[in-house]
Amino acid sequence: MSLAQGRSYLAIPGPSVMPDRVLAAMMRPAPNIYDGPLHGLTHSVLADLRRVARTTGHVAIYIGNGHAGWEAAIANLFSRGDRALVVTTGNFGLGWAEAARRMGVLVEALDCGRQAAADPERIAAALRADTGAAIRAVLVTHTDTASSVRNDIAAIRAAIDKVGHPALLAVDAIASLGCDPMRMDDWGVDVLIAASQKGLMVPPGLAFLWASDRAVRLSQSADLRTPYWDWTPRFFGPDYWQLFCGTAPTHHLFALREALTMILEDEGLDHAWDRHARLARAVWAAFGAWGQGGDIGLNVADPAMRGHSVTAARMGGGAAGRLRAWTEAEAGVTLGIGLGMALPSEPAYGDFLRVAHMGHVNAHMTLGVLSVIEAGLTALDIPHGRGAIEAAVAALA
Ligand SMILES: *Cc1c(COP(=O)(O)O)cnc(C)c1O
Repeated sequence: MSLAQGRSYLAIPGPSVMPDRVLAAMMRPAPNIYDGPLHGLTHSVLADLRRVARTTGHVAIYIGNGHAGWEAAIANLFSRGDRALVVTTGNFGLGWAEAARRMGVLVEALDCGRQAAADPERIAAALRADTGAAIRAVLVTHTDTASSVRNDIAAIRAAIDKVGHPALLAVDAIASLGCDPMRMDDWGVDVLIAASQKGLMVPPGLAFLWASDRAVRLSQSADLRTPYWDWTPRFFGPDYWQLFCGTAPTHHLFALREALTMILEDEGLDHAWDRHARLARAVWAAFGAWGQGGDIGLNVADPAMRGHSVTAARMGGGAAGRLRAWTEAEAGVTLGIGLGMALPSEPAYGDFLRVAHMGHVNAHMTLGVLSVIEAGLTALDIPHGRGAIEAAVAALA
């Protein structure tokens, strides 16, 4: 008999769990968009979006998902025929590269596999080879949600600077913002993008883009800009409607106001980063124990190269797919599918899954997911090592 009744848990890397406070903030009629409190609320949200990215730069909100954030960054950075160096460590990096290609950017792809962070030395070498400094920007994903590889953004900036190359640095932090440390200004990031539905705990529908002064200056010649995507009126107005190139996403703004208050005021950003690190270590410890007695393992061997918001894992023989079906049907927990590790048509597709631990998650949710996985492994007779929950508890400390 299924034990799935009760509050279900969507433990996939976006949309993430939305706090009741965030949901409740949206339960109100549409506000006046011409003037009044919505304008002040919007400006407070923009100020707090700078705080959550640790920047004093420019920020814009686009109505759209993460793909919209990719497109916004590309449109403002490039003209048709410009060059980009796109560093990939999983499906999302590949997706951003493909978007740039389709928009007419000449993409030089630096594929760093799916199991380790990009080596800054390889980026330096690619830029050194670009003797005419034709590469306008380096595009890289902070945490690639498909592989759970996390790149070292500060080290990548240092590699660009070491070569003395003028390329801008653009970073996709959609899966990591609010979860893993991000210090946009200290790390020399020129363009940063994120989306509402992951670490920021808001329904899907908003993309965020931050830009440095230098990126804004260089963007003035980018001919891929179109009226909706051009960041200039969004940064510089002067009218309120220009912030969104049309009607404001009113209820998403109410939700975001509440979420940013939870992260920045009630918990504190440093504490949120630390919480994600500790929950991640618990997940990794459990998988380590399971792997001692079965064909189970994490995708990324080096803990320093793992994101703190999502964990990609392998369970051989199709066990990951069977386990996912079990946890959803029998225990009310939905785990993430493996992404980009095998095609849906290939037998190995059933060998991969992902556990999200991003945003509104705490110890009881993470330990609950791990215990449910343990119950599933047991019920399905999937060989696994003992002691995973004890290991997770010890790692939380
Ligand atoms: C989720 C995600 C995206 C895509 O976001 P959508 O909202 O699905 O378009 C892009 N990059 C990263 C790193 C992501 O985690």
